[in-house]
Amino acid sequence: MDDLIARAVEDLASAGKVAALTGAGISTESGIPPFRGKGGLWERFDPMEIAHIDALMRDPAKVWTILVKEMKQIVDTAQPNDAHKGLARLEKMGKLETVITQNIDGLHQAAGNTDVIEFHGTFAWQRCMDCGLKYETSKVDISEIPPRCSCGGILRPDAVFFGEMIPQEALWRSRQIASDCDVMLVVGTSAVVQPAALMPVIAKQNGAKVIEINAERTPLTDEISDYLIMGGAGEIMTRIVAELEQKV
Ligand code: NAD
Ligand code: ZN
Repeated sequence: MDDLIARAVEDLASAGKVAALTGAGISTESGIPPFRGKGGLWERFDPMEIAHIDALMRDPAKVWTILVKEMKQIVDTAQPNDAHKGLARLEKMGKLETVITQNIDGLHQAAGNTDVIEFHGTFAWQRCMDCGLKYETSKVDISEIPPRCSCGGILRPDAVFFGEMIPQEALWRSRQIASDCDVMLVVGTSAVVQPAALMPVIAKQNGAKVIEINAERTPLTDEISDYLIMGGAGEIMTRIVAELEQKV
């Protein structure tokens, strides 16, 4: 792994524009379970089913009970880990401009990154399915499930469920950034959820180096990534940033 970390440090040191694409794997060390991979939610249920817009429309109470309530309890108290902090440090060093994240947990902003594209929306807010009014998730009373708006409508996360559209602005900007960067760091994503998984492909097609950091191989590993640094994102990001700081 040492030589791959040295290679990443070289590539980052010589890059002009650096972007990152992150997924649930960057937040597992903060105690938030991913969908796939070890300890993933799919071991208990199929996320494509329960986190699907059809399920939410059909039976919001069930989706709240199985998924949203637990997510709220975890996300309300989760803190950024070394991997989030590493990306925030890269921004402070002037090395990283934008984080495109599939995560809805707000941990990149909490770590200090200032340009975060929330590709799948945010869990920080709930919105009324009837009138659209938004409520801060941490302040929503969940003693009754599903929680409701003052208008009586049911609240839902202000996040993108499977089967829903990506917010236009997020998609448009992400494509721009992917086609414009010299290096894309792809951290903790299984790269199977589209169109997010297209961003490294766009980066590659436009001449960027794609550096993957993941505990496992992914569909990007052979075709798209220049190399995979395999292991925990916290340790790997900490080492990369420490070595880069020595260099610049
Ligand atoms: P995923 O759950 O499909 O895959 C997680 C990936 O992270 C796997 O490839 C796994 O090998 C890797 N991983 C796990 N722990 C790691 C670690 N410590 N270091 C490095 N890699 C690690 O995640 P995804 O690709 O983001 O797709 C899932 C979808 O579910 C996303 O669209 C996201 O919106 C949503 N989701 C978000 C959260 C969150 O906000 N934290 C959590 C679960 C799911
Ligand atoms: Zn309402």
